[in-house]
Amino acid sequence: MTHSIDMNLALSDDEMHLYSRQILLEGWDIDAQEKIKLANILIVGCGGIGCSSAELLARAGVGQITLIDADTVEMSNLQRQIAYVAEDIGFYKAEVLAKRLKRINPHIRVLVETSKLDQHNAQQLIASQDLVLDGCDNFTTRYLVNQICKQANVPLISASAIGFQGQLLMVEGQSACYECLFPKQQHASESLRCADSGVLATTPNVMASLQAHHALLYLGLNNTALKQKLMLWDGLTLKQRIVAFEKDTDCPNCQAR
Ligand SMILES: [Zn+2]
Repeated sequence: MTHSIDMNLALSDDEMHLYSRQILLEGWDIDAQEKIKLANILIVGCGGIGCSSAELLARAGVGQITLIDADTVEMSNLQRQIAYVAEDIGFYKAEVLAKRLKRINPHIRVLVETSKLDQHNAQQLIASQDLVLDGCDNFTTRYLVNQICKQANVPLISASAIGFQGQLLMVEGQSACYECLFPKQQHASESLRCADSGVLATTPNVMASLQAHHALLYLGLNNTALKQKLMLWDGLTLKQRIVAFEKDTDCPNCQAR
């Protein structure tokens, strides 16, 4: 890997300039900026949620971003997946997005995986991260990410968007997990995907912004506002609700620990 980038803790003059509006912010400052510079995050899925979340976090200065997605860009993605343009059709999303992120912020490191996250690579990809952001489009991957994050004790912020609805939650440390909230047997049959149900252009981008925002709060300030809480965003009324959830004593994922 070649990097002319400075991965020292201290922020360079260029970085100070780039992040100046954030560093000015009362309650954020240089400490928080240095913390996110040292952070490694994994973005699972580079679709409507992942591509926006990744871009916001690259701009904000998260030091190392790993992107995983096995899909290539399709015409029907362009309606909402803001990192891609027509010339990108046919190319791997993760690779196109990585190039974009590096152009946006040359001070960060971006790693790419163009295979599916599965039982073989999940442990190795997740264990070394400070935070995982899930924005994938299927329950199989969602449950696997949740399972490995729990096993490896890596915090997870999971976001989803479908139709006019969005959801966001955080799993961290000993908290209840995604599977406590959504038991597998209830969800196995309903594989809701944008491909089947449709989604408004803005919905995944709202949820991506909230997910990236929470990631910054956590990485910079150790704020776990949505730990063991589910945020529900309704895109028709613009109402937002936060509901706490509890550990399910029958959750095989939490029992396995
Ligand atoms: Zn659980």
